[in-house]
Amino acid sequence: MATPDTILEIDLDAIAANWRSLRARLKLGCEAAAVVKADAYGVGMAHVAPRLWRAGCRLFFVADVGEGLALRRLLPDARIAILNGFEAKAGREFARGRLIPVLNHLRQIKDWRKASRGNPAILHVDTGMARLGLPPTEAARLGTDPSLLDGVALAGVMSHLTTAWNRAAKVNRTQLDAFRVLLKSLPPAPASLASSSGIFLGPAYHFDFVRPGAALYGANPLPGHTNPMKQAIKLKAKILQDRNIDKGQTVGYDGTFRVRRSSRVATLAMGYADGWLRTAGNRASVGIGDKRAPIVGRISMDLITVDITDIDPKLTRPGAYVDLLDDRYGVDDFATDAGTIAYEVLTQLGGKHHRVYRGVIHA
Ligand SMILES: *Cc1c(COP(=O)(O)O)cnc(C)c1O
Repeated sequence: MATPDTILEIDLDAIAANWRSLRARLKLGCEAAAVVKADAYGVGMAHVAPRLWRAGCRLFFVADVGEGLALRRLLPDARIAILNGFEAKAGREFARGRLIPVLNHLRQIKDWRKASRGNPAILHVDTGMARLGLPPTEAARLGTDPSLLDGVALAGVMSHLTTAWNRAAKVNRTQLDAFRVLLKSLPPAPASLASSSGIFLGPAYHFDFVRPGAALYGANPLPGHTNPMKQAIKLKAKILQDRNIDKGQTVGYDGTFRVRRSSRVATLAMGYADGWLRTAGNRASVGIGDKRAPIVGRISMDLITVDITDIDPKLTRPGAYVDLLDDRYGVDDFATDAGTIAYEVLTQLGGKHHRVYRGVIHA
């Protein structure tokens, strides 16, 4: 039987442990939600959400209605909030899925008042992100005319930090102060400001619930510092060919890498179509045994070439697997080498890999 080209191993116990360790950092009475949008950051919502539910998580955030309905099928009793908001056309789906819209502007509030039938909604106020959420002028109107919220069962008021991963950024404090002022002008409701990194800014940022996503999946909420989270995914790719290359020859498209000595190169069954970002060519490396082998030349659509001159040939025969992500070289390490962030690495991995879930709940 054919062996898989790549194996993506997802440790659900590590994800649950990450959720619990974030929860343990919260001030008393603060609830830890979980953000599982984009198929749980590419990791697989169908596996992650039930595991987090079993760990005790009761409030989940996804981006859109389709994700919300899919999650409702998995978790009949969870509270499920939709970050992208509400549109009048979606009233039926929201009712059917008992979905909680995150209302981002006055129009959505108006439409929700007509459609809600008393069901809860979360209000999103913008404190500096300028992306989603009521801009300051709209939030001020709610303050001066509370009747605009008549009939809205407020399950929360939230805002989102722009630079929470950088403790030194003054904007964190500015947003915190702005959020506090807004809360005073709005009807009382559970408040939420922090996602993964914001939790580490301390209890002043915790309010009543927090919304971590990336850190659950092992991404470092404190880039530049030791990662407090457990690595949750491992990725292996198969060697398709190993070969000798003469001194002076180049490897791959555009000949961007020229070998300075006679070398050995292995070609792996993984490329940018599988999420191994092309920008990591000539920069990242893979693990073979306890050594690292640099990626040489451009990353191709389905292939990567690595320099294995210094690696034990017994470990590099066709059919052997090498480590692309593991406990020693995680999503943040590859992200740094590829010039991006762990969020993009996770969500680009895609559906092609042979997946193995560890810590699966058996009914
Ligand atoms: C994606 C998202 C989160 C989760 O953020 P992480 O940095 O992944 O923890 C929280 N809140 C909002 C509004 C989001 O869009």
